Amino acid sequence: MSAHQLGVEIACDGPTGGDDCPDSAAVRARFTSRTVRQVRADGRRDGWTTRRAQGRLLDICPRCRTHTTTETTR
Ligand SMILES: [Zn+2]
Repeated sequence: MSAHQLGVEIACDGPTGGDDCPDSAAVRARFTSRTVRQVRADGRRDGWTTRRAQGRLLDICPRCRTHTTTETTR
């Protein structure tokens, strides 16, 4: 067991939530951030957003967010 416990990792769910993120991006959490909420707050500083889809929360990295400027509504 290491003394440095890894916190949660929040990875990008891709532009639509169904696609993989082209960058496989993950939030660079600050050292003090241990909970999902804290890490999401870190991500928001870097431009990450969350999106609710089908009852779950998708995490979108800044790059994927800019790829979805045209909303696809079906
Ligand atoms: Zn992404």
